[in-house]
Amino acid sequence: MLNLKSLNKNQREAVEYVQGPALVVAGAGSGKTKVLTYKIAHLIENNFLPENILALTFTNKAAKEMKERIHGLIGDSSQQLWMGTFHSIFARILRTEAASIGYTSNFSIYDNEDSHSAVSNIIEDLQLNSDVVVASKVRRRISYLKNLMIFPEEFKKEHVKGPVDEHIARVYEVYQQRLVENNAMDFEDLILKPLELFQNDKILKKYKKKFLYILVDEFQDTNKAQYEILKRLCSKEGHITVVGDDSQSIYSWRGAEIGNILSFEQDFTKAKVLKLEQNYRSTQYILKAADSVIKRNSRQIEKTLWTENPPGDQLSLLKSSDEKEEAIRIAKLIKEEITRNKYAHSDFAILYRTNAQSRTFEDVFRRERIPYVIIGGIEFYKRKEVKDLIGYLKVLTNPRDEESLLRIMNFPQRGIGMTTIKRMIGFARKHEITLFETMTRVFEVIDIKERIQKNVKNFKGVLDKYIILREKLSPGELIRALIDELGIVQMFKEDATHESMERLRNVEELLSAITEYSAANPESTLDDYLQEVALVTDLEMVDDKQNVVSLLTVHSAKGLEFPLVFVSGLEEDIFPLSNRFSSEATEEEERRLFYVAITRAQHKVYLSHARSRYRFGEVAYQNRSKFIDEVDPETINFDDPLANKRLERKSKKELMEETFATMDYIDPIIINSMIKIGSKVYHDTFKMGKVTQIIGTGDNQKVTVQFDGNNIKHLMLKYAKLKVMH
Ligand code: ATP
Ligand code: MG
Repeated sequence: MLNLKSLNKNQREAVEYVQGPALVVAGAGSGKTKVLTYKIAHLIENNFLPENILALTFTNKAAKEMKERIHGLIGDSSQQLWMGTFHSIFARILRTEAASIGYTSNFSIYDNEDSHSAVSNIIEDLQLNSDVVVASKVRRRISYLKNLMIFPEEFKKEHVKGPVDEHIARVYEVYQQRLVENNAMDFEDLILKPLELFQNDKILKKYKKKFLYILVDEFQDTNKAQYEILKRLCSKEGHITVVGDDSQSIYSWRGAEIGNILSFEQDFTKAKVLKLEQNYRSTQYILKAADSVIKRNSRQIEKTLWTENPPGDQLSLLKSSDEKEEAIRIAKLIKEEITRNKYAHSDFAILYRTNAQSRTFEDVFRRERIPYVIIGGIEFYKRKEVKDLIGYLKVLTNPRDEESLLRIMNFPQRGIGMTTIKRMIGFARKHEITLFETMTRVFEVIDIKERIQKNVKNFKGVLDKYIILREKLSPGELIRALIDELGIVQMFKEDATHESMERLRNVEELLSAITEYSAANPESTLDDYLQEVALVTDLEMVDDKQNVVSLLTVHSAKGLEFPLVFVSGLEEDIFPLSNRFSSEATEEEERRLFYVAITRAQHKVYLSHARSRYRFGEVAYQNRSKFIDEVDPETINFDDPLANKRLERKSKKELMEETFATMDYIDPIIINSMIKIGSKVYHDTFKMGKVTQIIGTGDNQKVTVQFDGNNIKHLMLKYAKLKVMH
């Protein structure tokens, strides 16, 4: 028997109410998700079959967690539940019903890049001027229109203003046709096509009969089409429960409509509106701080939130001189909390506003041996644009690096396709030269169009130029010039999608990282830098995968909770983020994001900001976020939490020593082949040293190393287990 005793009176009412539609609007941590979980279990106990229940969550991770919790409550029958994101659930339904809307069940799903290239091909086919009708802009417009459910015909009739719009209307029309012809759907279609499907009465009936009860978490972030689906599918008994919090609506840029919460009461007549007012997650200080922030927003539904939890600690303010110190201080605080208060790594979350900010934390945490995981994102050095640029640097230091050369051959796009590349590789192999050398002789490679040959030649010219510049510029200057030459910033700016702005920020962050490195190590070369990156990225985190610090954006943190939360980068232009800060509405959305950030914490919040940070390779002096000043000052402890501790910055040497001391897994044969006279090496006992002599070959090779403190040793290379720095 399901025990509803662990629910409060209002939660219980929300769980037990099945007579009609229910809307739960309540603040953070009040148990909305818990209510949904229990309600599903309760329905099953009351003779609803799991396969007749549809539960929509915001992320797949949330769906998985909810499924696990329900499994804990009711056991194996939970497997049959229809639970997932709108996209995943409706993709599944579309596969089953594809035939009725002219698709086959194995239709492709286009990601953003696929859609972009489809649009760009259409512009070319229609022989439109691609400088006027810019592919990325058209793609963005189409996505926007689709989110608003404005289709080509309506667009053409009612929204066209001027000749460019006319072209867009034409491209939009052909784009929609091509998707169908290619048996493909884009992301928007996964939400729109079900509506088309449900115009067919027979199919609609089938799914209405199937989904006898519908539940939706994070309802404040549904968009227009998703809401339409719910309206269609909902049974006449009104078997639907949605839960949400207008104060946590943070996806308006993706077409989410807070208005859906307000419409619900009108559209689902006799809807019961339930409120949850007790917060179980956070301490009194945290709640009071969060409340003092969100009440500054003008548009919100009245809600109260209180807690029986203890007052707890005030929020701490963490001031750092720059972003590196910010990460070091946070690392230090984590270590301290773990030893002093017996927390585990998994009790901590570092939140940031933009993905690019993860880089400094990753660098510092790896060195400090703090295990971490990036939730809902990719590690900085594995992001595509970062790898592409590092690829350039690798080719500049080692033109024989074919893998890197292939990576950058067509980035940014310069019309060098796979066929061209294959032909060049064929030529290289036949003549036993490198791909890089082949580029110079590209005019000899047959079957490549002259235009493309020229592109290859120009590209080679750029590389040659930077190989020479490499000797003259610092790594920071070099990468800056290169980014400029390649027009990458321009490219992402023109695209201006949410995604390309993220990419741009990553490029910016890489430039900052290299400049910062050059400033800290004025003598160092590009090789040194690459070596450093390789080391940082190769360091394996050995700890248990479960017990790790979470690094994530505030967006990905929605719905989650952690005992201790660091909200980092609380500076103007970062959080709140500037380039979307164009109107009142977006300022309110940034504030809601800040509210989401604070309310993730159970025990303690650290608000952190830096006085300066590298931005686009320049030191920028940062003003602290207005949001810090909006928090009720009574809830903040302004004393430096590390005041009495020595915050030593480790020297490069210390860091290197630490890094090398923990590196055991690199094949010694590879390492030994890298050793040359002058190499800086590390030995477990003698520590750092410099190779002064190498005698012999193969297994008998001996090296003379001058270790620190003028400690000269003659070692058998094979047994010395040296680790190389240069
Ligand atoms: P958010 O708005 O952040 O999504 P939420 O309203 O969905 O929050 P939950 O995540 O469901 O809140 O609950 C917050 C925490 O409070 C969870 O740890 C949950 O287990 C706990 N909780 C909820 N209700 C109760 C209750 N009645 N008794 C004890 N703990 C509860
Ligand atoms: Mg929730």
